[in-house]
Amino acid sequence: MRNTAVIIYIDHFIHNIQQVRNLVGPSVKICASVKADAYGHGAVALARAAERAGIDFLGIACPEEGAELRNAGIRLPLLMYGLCLPEEIPRVVDLEISAIVADAAGIEGFARSAARQKKVARLHLKIDTGMGRIGCLPEQALSLAKQIASSPHLILEGLATHFPISDEADRSFTQRQIQQFLGIVNQIEKESIRPPLLHASNSGGILQYPEANLSMVRPGILLYGYFPSREVPRTLSLKPVMELKASVLFLKKVPPGTPISYGCTYRTHETTTIATIGAGYADGYPRSLSNKGRVLIRNRCYPIVGRVTMDQIMVDVGKDPEVERYDEAILFGPNPLGPSAEEVAELAGTITYEITCGINRRIPRRYIGDT
Ligand SMILES: *Cc1c(COP(=O)(O)O)cnc(C)c1O
Repeated sequence: MRNTAVIIYIDHFIHNIQQVRNLVGPSVKICASVKADAYGHGAVALARAAERAGIDFLGIACPEEGAELRNAGIRLPLLMYGLCLPEEIPRVVDLEISAIVADAAGIEGFARSAARQKKVARLHLKIDTGMGRIGCLPEQALSLAKQIASSPHLILEGLATHFPISDEADRSFTQRQIQQFLGIVNQIEKESIRPPLLHASNSGGILQYPEANLSMVRPGILLYGYFPSREVPRTLSLKPVMELKASVLFLKKVPPGTPISYGCTYRTHETTTIATIGAGYADGYPRSLSNKGRVLIRNRCYPIVGRVTMDQIMVDVGKDPEVERYDEAILFGPNPLGPSAEEVAELAGTITYEITCGINRRIPRRYIGDT
């Protein structure tokens, strides 16, 4: 019954990588954030493409994501952004994942596990300069850096921080974070501890604070073809990577006053044709786009009428429709004639990240372009 498909344009992903590469220059490393199954696009396929496109690191959130990539034969260095449970540390060490740490107990856990496995664990110390999430307090950074540097089983591979509002217009908060981070780096380097990777910038930082590129940047959303917010300068030419489409499964001519979908929130104004499309909120298309969204069929947009249901959406295609049964309807994607994921996100009152991450895994991803 469901002909829904997610098309992933690999060549758009590569194009976006090149855009970021051109902006940061050849000497700054790029850690492509492929956490959350590459923001819903499929981590393994995009990691392979990233590997060929000259990406230096892949950013993941948890050990499972690292295992998936390693099992698929991905050899690139992996950086785990999130913390893990003590019992997961041996697996992280075994998979040779570089790990973020933020406290003495975590560092000790990695030292013990690495010693037991006769390996060296590579750690990045995360310093909280304003995110209020994981990360040590600035005044703890030096002693934690020393703890890592003094262990024969650990390498202090990096120092990191994270920006909560680098995609907003106000600049003073992020500038203060950058200054504070550089001050801490300086303090640590004075003790002759010189971690090779200093990194802070997410997509917003890359666009607005070139002085925070340091030795590595960690873009996510830019690589998938979207700007992180409306407030950043749109200085890159990005191509959205994901397209969500479904088939027109049914067409029906109805008289004026016909109620459409649950709650009867819409009634037709005149004689018209209602097309039923085989995708719904179970696929990750937001239910909040009921009576708000639009879809692209044969290069024309049509409004969603009535509530978005679990597996089906109704659109009004007019009295004498150009639409035919089994046509393809695009719910969002790179085609500028139709809705973008950004438009869907704005209508749903959320961010593009949540839309692409939320597209259900029961829909097959079809990879187009150089895979
Ligand atoms: C997700 C994430 C990023 C990427 O953020 P974007 O806004 O998608 O560029 C960078 N760093 C960390 C620590 C993250 O969790």
